[in-house]
Amino acid sequence: MKEILFIEPVLKERIWGGSRLKEYGYDLPSDQTGECWAISAHPNGDCVIRNGTYSGRTLSSLWNHHRELFGLPDAKEFPLLIKIIDAKKDLSVQVHPDDEYASLHENGASGKTECWYVLDCKDDETIVIGHHAKNTEEAARMVREGRYQELIREIPVHKGDFFQIEPGVLHAIKGGTLILETQQNSDVTYRVYDYDRLENGRPRELHKEQSLAVMKCPFRPKLGKPVTYRVGSASVDHLITCPYYSVEHMTVTGPASFMAGAVFQNLSVIGGEGTIDGIKIRKGDHFIIPSGYGVFELSGNLEIIRSSPCELMVK
Ligand code: ZN
Repeated sequence: MKEILFIEPVLKERIWGGSRLKEYGYDLPSDQTGECWAISAHPNGDCVIRNGTYSGRTLSSLWNHHRELFGLPDAKEFPLLIKIIDAKKDLSVQVHPDDEYASLHENGASGKTECWYVLDCKDDETIVIGHHAKNTEEAARMVREGRYQELIREIPVHKGDFFQIEPGVLHAIKGGTLILETQQNSDVTYRVYDYDRLENGRPRELHKEQSLAVMKCPFRPKLGKPVTYRVGSASVDHLITCPYYSVEHMTVTGPASFMAGAVFQNLSVIGGEGTIDGIKIRKGDHFIIPSGYGVFELSGNLEIIRSSPCELMVK
């Protein structure tokens, strides 16, 4: 019988961070805590298991020595990274490379496709997704001439919104926004624009050349509506399936049984409290349902983001 793996998050201080991750029950290193690496086997923040047989082991060590828990025998690295981000101040405008570019220019690293579920934001808040340049030449001219306000595409954002961010798409979270991010296990980011801010009296490094090399021009917004289905006393919004992951938003109001598949699933409780197979869970808990675990039952009043890697695409 496989056990559910409860994960101890790694908290990261950031110059733009705040203290709202306290709302998830975490002890923060400071009032400038920007990221909770909730489920991560990345060397920059390798989470520890906090229960059962594997208590105290890192997720990367389980990945390397107990692959039967995950069900991806041929995958090189743990494929996903789940974060909660508290942006007290605006984050810089960034873009990520795809697998091909990252592998060639970043020592064989993976590219980054990521997606955001908006946990909270201020009224009348905006978010940066995409740009207005008609082609690569115009984008290069705007970057060279510092015409970033013309370049970036800002749109309104609301609690509960979901955004898929493919490689090559400019993006940024503004101050006051809290998101849950599901992404490829990669830390490769190119900073395009930092609002001319200074850190210790100097601007932070920009990666204009790399950014322009990977930016997709023109930007075409992807429109899609989640498909909602019911499982017992739960309502599930299927948010995305892309070559890297599937992500769903679950609202549980009573008992609901789900089936674990051939690959593992990540669950993050983003609201409420309840139980999973009789074990108490609450807002801020993150856990992995191992591959082949079988049926699991959620109960209580819970809001959960669930993700799993797309097994066919994982190398
Ligand atoms: Zn990003």
